[in-house]
Amino acid sequence: MWSTLIEKGCWEGELWNRRKNGDIYPEWLHINAVYGPDNEVVNYVGVFSDIGPNKKMQKDLHRLAYFDPLTNLPNRRLLFDRLQQTITSSERAHQYGALIFIDLDNLKTLNDTKGHKYGDLLLQEVAQRLQHCVRKGDTVARLGGDEFVIILQGLPSESTQAAVQAEAVAKKIQGNLKDVFYLEEFKYHGSACIGIKLFSESKSSIEDLLKQADIAMYQAKHMGRNNVCFFDPIMQEKLNARTDMEHNIRRAIENNEFQLYYQVQVDSVNHPLGAEALIRWVHSKRGMIPPLQFIPLAEETDLILDLGQWVIETACAQIKTWEQNALTRELTISVNVSAKQFEHPDFVAQVHTAVKKHAINPAMLKLELTESMLVNNVEHTINKMNELKVIGVRFELDDFGTGYSSLYCLKKLPLSRLKIDQSFVRDIHTDNNDQVISKTIISMAQNMNLYVIAEGVETEDQLAYLKKCGCNHFQGYLFGRPVPIEEFEAELIHAQLSG
Ligand code: C2E
Ligand code: CA
Ligand code: CA
Repeated sequence: MWSTLIEKGCWEGELWNRRKNGDIYPEWLHINAVYGPDNEVVNYVGVFSDIGPNKKMQKDLHRLAYFDPLTNLPNRRLLFDRLQQTITSSERAHQYGALIFIDLDNLKTLNDTKGHKYGDLLLQEVAQRLQHCVRKGDTVARLGGDEFVIILQGLPSESTQAAVQAEAVAKKIQGNLKDVFYLEEFKYHGSACIGIKLFSESKSSIEDLLKQADIAMYQAKHMGRNNVCFFDPIMQEKLNARTDMEHNIRRAIENNEFQLYYQVQVDSVNHPLGAEALIRWVHSKRGMIPPLQFIPLAEETDLILDLGQWVIETACAQIKTWEQNALTRELTISVNVSAKQFEHPDFVAQVHTAVKKHAINPAMLKLELTESMLVNNVEHTINKMNELKVIGVRFELDDFGTGYSSLYCLKKLPLSRLKIDQSFVRDIHTDNNDQVISKTIISMAQNMNLYVIAEGVETEDQLAYLKKCGCNHFQGYLFGRPVPIEEFEAELIHAQLSG
């Protein structure tokens, strides 16, 4: 202000001032210099006006232009702005966003029977509830009538995962809208149909996206009240299949449709050391379902906790049976443990309980962990493993060589055996890299005083090379495929008779 005044002889601008009663208000101040006969400044004259009312009007106009007066939510115009921004930022971050179109069921009936006042109260309450269902940064807008739209941002970059999250928000909204509404003295039960359109790049226009979410919403309405639909039919199908699968796994647990198969592990003179327990789902209609088709989903949905517990219990029961027979007394069982299962606070207690309940020698039970489970929170992992080691249970590192565990971390973990991943064994007699990796793992394990087992051994050539490198535990089709317990035991007897 001063520099302008000195240079130009006048200044004007907006500033905050305080009234005598203490109120702060915005004023517009205009200052002019008054000069004497020899061009010296003798006075300044300031004229100001209170622009408070003006400011408020600007603010009101802004609100009217961008917000819905009934619910105070962003209106169609602001929704379009935000959607454009979200599309741009999603594209840049390679993430998905979702447009969720919500249409309340039966608002018209409420208006017609109770009057618009009740309809308005409902819309206001719905606006509140919707805002509670989303994260900061997401936008909840009202398009008009009984239609609301939500923009979700920052969803995962993989489409199925993004769909799962968007659907979870939609389900949460439906759950929230199902809770009774208290519209003054009137109790109202609401529901809504929801359409979802995922987006990741600015290929389609804003209008198109909105239309597609709207179409999905109509499809949901078509299915009856309180439904959710995706615009993309393929996405819808994938999600349905997932939901079916989840439901089926749950039922399969109850119906005992899971079985453990056992795959033999041998030493360098082909003597059985034990077995790896591999889960199988024997489906009444679809036959045998391999674990890779259901374990990942079980891991995402927490069903792995029940499944994993069942596997441990079953393996312990088997160890007990084997302990009572001279032929099988020395055999160990290795059980695969999922990250989520291992991280569960009750894991140690569950294993302990199973070991005690079946009164087994705990050294016969081996837990197979993977490298990826060890990298976060190493200290915590070590403590947990040590608690189990105290009980007498042993650990192996599965799929070794495919992850990123540091030597430092390896040295600190209470492991008894490393398992060379089958991808290195597959081409070991031809691929120089695989040879170097396997050789290195084997000598490293020897230096660290760990056993090492190679998995996926299918040919005599592979076996010969591994033996040459100093490996002396093996597992793979060359020695036996994973088979049901009866077959496994029959094989043992057969081998003993012929050996
Ligand atoms: P994994 O632990 O690496 O299991 C080894 C897989 O390699 C098994 O597949 C086994 O059948 C297969 N295999 C064994 N020998 C050979 C061979 O010589 N050649 C070839 N090509 N493959 C061989 P499977 O049974 O389909 O299991 C796949 C994965 O499912 C397992 O990989 C494990 O990660 C998971 N899994 C299996 N059972 C369980 C379980 O009870 N709990 C958990 N959490 N995961 C399990
Ligand atoms: Ca394994
Ligand atoms: Ca493995």
